[in-house]
Amino acid sequence: MYQNDLFEDETAVVTGASRGLGRAIARRLAECGADVVVAARSSDALAAVADEIETETASDALDVTVDVRDTDAIERLVQRATEFGDGSVEMLIANAGANFHAPVTELSENAWRTIVDINLDGTYRCCHAFAEALAAADVGRVVTMSSVIGRDGAAESAHYAASKAGIEALTRSLALEWAEDNVRANCLRPGLVATPGVEENRGVTADRIDRDDVDRSLGHPDEIADLACFLVSPGASYVSGQTYTAEGIRRRPDDE
Ligand code: NAP
Repeated sequence: MYQNDLFEDETAVVTGASRGLGRAIARRLAECGADVVVAARSSDALAAVADEIETETASDALDVTVDVRDTDAIERLVQRATEFGDGSVEMLIANAGANFHAPVTELSENAWRTIVDINLDGTYRCCHAFAEALAAADVGRVVTMSSVIGRDGAAESAHYAASKAGIEALTRSLALEWAEDNVRANCLRPGLVATPGVEENRGVTADRIDRDDVDRSLGHPDEIADLACFLVSPGASYVSGQTYTAEGIRRRPDDE
């Protein structure tokens, strides 16, 4: 679907790339010719992802350990990434995110702040720090990561829902501000996807997913990677400030 020279001579930074959707997105961008910087906190897992990309694709990969709550660490990430990309970074995939389940009445202020800090503030910090490098590209592209929970809300996930809704609004605003710098910014809003964490919690497995099966509500990480790849590709040249939902078939009780 995507040719292996689509992103030739371009550099992509993917946060939250030590596993799950970030790993799948980094691999797909590398398969399409981008050199990739993978970032997260778990250095061993990140090194394994970078190694896998270098072994299995023709692209170069650099792993940088970073906590998106740490502004100084993000500045170091920008420096490492721009050096790696010979001065430019064309794509930022701000994917790092976290959640845990708790009703609002049992949610401490500290717990609320932790999730907002990682998801919303972390996305802001990364976009803010990479603004100059993205503006230096011919066409800079940003993809942020929301969730259908940011649209719908969910019991025991108010903190997560609020952070994801904020990411959608942040992305629309970035698109307006950065258009004059030739930077496109779009947001992905996945439904349930069989990443390792979801597989453990729900007893599902990505191996069982048939991408030719339309009637389902569990996605494969590669399906989110393909959509991210489209949004940073020239095929999406007239798309900015949008939130793209990938959730398969969403049924209400009356539809059954
Ligand atoms: P995951 O398996 O839990 O992976 C999350 C990634 O974010 C990991 O690489 C993790 O790495 C990184 N991360 C977490 N906290 C971080 C921090 N403070 N600093 C830097 N990196 C951090 O999650 P996933 O399922 O792949 O989800 C990826 C994104 O998609 C998240 O934003 C999530 O909210 C969103 N999403 C997922 C689904 C789904 O069904 N899977 C649906 C909708 C939206 P380290 O632990 O090594 O730091």
